[in-house]
Amino acid sequence: MSGLALLSLLASCAPAMPGNASQTPTAVVAGEASQLPSESEATPRPTIEPFRFILPTPGAEPVSGWRPPLYPIPWSVSPYDHFYFARPIAADNVNWPLAEYRYGGVFFAPNIVHTGVDIDAAKGAPILAAGGGTVISAGWGLYTEVPGNESDPYGLAVVIRHDFGYKGQSLFTIYAHMSAITAVEGQHVETGDVIGLVGDTGATTGPHLHFEVRLGKNSFYNTFNPELWMAPPQGWGVLVGRITDEKGKLLNQYSIEVRPLPAEVPLRKVLTYAEGSVNADPYYQENLALSDLPAGIYKVLMKYKDKDAQFFVEIFPGQVTYFTFTDKDGFQLTPPPVPTLNFLPGTATATP
Ligand SMILES: [Zn+2]
Repeated sequence: MSGLALLSLLASCAPAMPGNASQTPTAVVAGEASQLPSESEATPRPTIEPFRFILPTPGAEPVSGWRPPLYPIPWSVSPYDHFYFARPIAADNVNWPLAEYRYGGVFFAPNIVHTGVDIDAAKGAPILAAGGGTVISAGWGLYTEVPGNESDPYGLAVVIRHDFGYKGQSLFTIYAHMSAITAVEGQHVETGDVIGLVGDTGATTGPHLHFEVRLGKNSFYNTFNPELWMAPPQGWGVLVGRITDEKGKLLNQYSIEVRPLPAEVPLRKVLTYAEGSVNADPYYQENLALSDLPAGIYKVLMKYKDKDAQFFVEIFPGQVTYFTFTDKDGFQLTPPPVPTLNFLPGTATATP
């Protein structure tokens, strides 16, 4: 196996590391977590402590497990958006990307970049086709391209080639680390059809679904951020950014904080993509995406050259809010680059 292959081997990720447990959603609802210690200290205390939830310290992700129903797919408010996929896990389970294991992240060593998102659904949870299409691969050996190879890092995996494409290119979704596959090669599936069960086969330290979106080619090097392809919950939106330095170079693995106003909790932290085998959206050219944000005003903060940089953005329901950061102009809430003919409405092929 080549050095590259070895590196990439680990890139198929492995969540459920110690400490992840604190990220597992609890019954606390997003937005409820406004801790106001100073206020409660100032008010007289009742002799009997009222029942109250003990709220965890705000972490990288809201502790809520609740999401509104998703927009129907394909969902695309602007001609540039392409929320063509449903979630591969049903709404009665965790069905959003795990904060620590986003696309473009690095978990084990430099240059090992995550090419999908990890969804922390329970072992045995049904895995659903994210869109209609044909199962073109089902079994061991997706990464190594050796059918039946039980040491393949993706474990038991399924590939669907979708009935629809994007800008004339084929779209594929990948489902990895399954405990069982129920779909068979050549089968046509509709959105929501069960294709297998969540497991921990392959290079992983715990059960989860590794989910990828591939465009153009069913190749490890053709992945794109699934957070730009999965329909948001209704009333929620997606923050997309492009952060560059004084030379116009993308800043890799830069930490950004996103805080909803006015409470500033739950705080979310997101890193820009690492350099490696990940790709930016053909249109947004982003190096950061954060989905599942309830519509509203957010404060975005980061450290740049030892200074705090911050600005405010509005997240709109069912849409992408796009910003750039440059050394010269700082944060800019800009419309994305001027559309070319390729991006005019109607050229995206969302139809089967
Ligand atoms: Zn993964």
